[in-house]
Amino acid sequence: MKIARTVAEVRQAADCCKVEKARLGLVPTMGAFHDGHVSLFRAARAECDKVVVSLFVNPAQFAPHEDLARYPRDETRDAELAEDEGVDILFAPPADELYPTGFHTWVDPEGTGAEGVRRPDHFRGVATVCVKLFNIVQPDVAYFGQKDAQQAAIVRQLIRDLNLELELRVVLTVRDPDGLALSSRNTYLSADERLRALTLPRALRAGREAYADGADPVAAARAAFNGLDPDYVEVLDLGNAKLLAAAARVGETRLIDNVVLEGELT
Ligand code: AMP
Repeated sequence: MKIARTVAEVRQAADCCKVEKARLGLVPTMGAFHDGHVSLFRAARAECDKVVVSLFVNPAQFAPHEDLARYPRDETRDAELAEDEGVDILFAPPADELYPTGFHTWVDPEGTGAEGVRRPDHFRGVATVCVKLFNIVQPDVAYFGQKDAQQAAIVRQLIRDLNLELELRVVLTVRDPDGLALSSRNTYLSADERLRALTLPRALRAGREAYADGADPVAAARAAFNGLDPDYVEVLDLGNAKLLAAAARVGETRLIDNVVLEGELT
């Protein structure tokens, strides 16, 4: 597996794929890999001739009070895992490679509810880095997780709005056996907090069951949020799918999750 640190290096490595007319898959990540990331790598591996994974803790999507400094980082372990999964190129640039001095151009999606309201500028950072990665790597397909469903929806919208030439795949959320969605931020949780965090997937499941019975999913999920105070519980209409999404803080850790109410995410 090639590890590229610069735009020039990753372009050169990805360019040989183009010459060979290979189908190129890109999986954008912030590292601290878990089985959720692995399922994206496998989806890309199954469909593409070459797989590029980007590993970049994107400062532009963190607010000043958020966890950029303490976000889990373990590049050596991540590189081993990616190599074991058959990733061809790991693009792990330093921050100033993507945001050099004098960087002034942003992609700013409009009208982003839920996470977009609670984290102003978050999706501006996400959209900007994704457009940069798409321009740099020029993948045929990009892979995103249902776990961050709003992010996937925003990327779908920007591909359409900016006439980008790539396909998007959304891969189902991978969960621990007890239902907690895998997340790099789960490492912040103490044993007690991890138990309390289970309220989030349980409340969403209660909402989904209520919806299937014709009741209000938001009210049902809110009623099941015992012990945690959700930031929001909202139905998101993502075009081909309707989701019930929520965010909640467990101690210092903010977790998000969602379930599909109807439709398909792909
Ligand atoms: P991150 O490194 O957290 O930015 O995530 C990189 C990609 O992995 C994003 O598209 C996420 O939606 C996806 N992802 C994160 N957690 C999971 C999960 N539990 N199941 C499936 N995909 C996930």
